[in-house]
Amino acid sequence: MTEKQSTRDAPLILATDLDGTFAGGTSLARRDLQEAIRCSPAATLIYVTGRSVPATREIIAEAPLPQPDLLIADVGTTVVRGDDFQPLREVQGTIEDLWPGADTVRHLFRDFPGIEEQEVRAPNRVSYWLREGAMEETLTHMTERLDDERLDLIGSAGVYIDVLPPGVNKGSTLLRVLDWLDVPGADVVVAGDTLNDLALFETGLRGVVVSNCEAGLRDRLANRKHVYFARGEGAAGVHEGLQFFGCLQGGADGE
Ligand SMILES: [Mg+2]
Repeated sequence: MTEKQSTRDAPLILATDLDGTFAGGTSLARRDLQEAIRCSPAATLIYVTGRSVPATREIIAEAPLPQPDLLIADVGTTVVRGDDFQPLREVQGTIEDLWPGADTVRHLFRDFPGIEEQEVRAPNRVSYWLREGAMEETLTHMTERLDDERLDLIGSAGVYIDVLPPGVNKGSTLLRVLDWLDVPGADVVVAGDTLNDLALFETGLRGVVVSNCEAGLRDRLANRKHVYFARGEGAAGVHEGLQFFGCLQGGADGE
């Protein structure tokens, strides 16, 4: 692509969703993307996923995916190091301070119609399946139930509802992590496919929306100058976006 700048010196920091994005698409596309990142000196890989830490470790082993430098899991409410999956206390602590506890959330939404708690157990979130009814309407009624409790609700992919500490999402946690890393936002590219990735793009950082994205995400991000809408699906889309932003160096493939 003409936008590629092979002489670029700045390191790449890729903060990417997994399902449908970095781990999406064909195995060939995943391999090509991973190879291109390996060929980029000083690349930093941050996974930003709705999965729990154990579920992320599963997909890393199964896909397979490279070990990340950092993992932001549970829709932004858990931050661990990529080498040993131990909490990054400096960031994790600020999130825990905002969380009223899962039992408080369960009590608020006990008997709430049309939702069912997911099996996943995470430290700072409670997640539900939407079993009946429309997403927007359900979120509105759940919000009405919050009363004075400060919590955020995120619906995505038409079936997932996450209850999170106030102001905590994939984007706000990524900004906390970048601050801790002390790196410039100009070196960062985010990537995603569903509405729980919206907050990643709302950071104002450069972003890639893959072509298999949820329609709502595309609608919400239309005409944003810092957002690239890829033609490729999953890993192929991420690869295409990194090329568009001129982030890949050296002998990487994918011309
Ligand atoms: Mg996804």
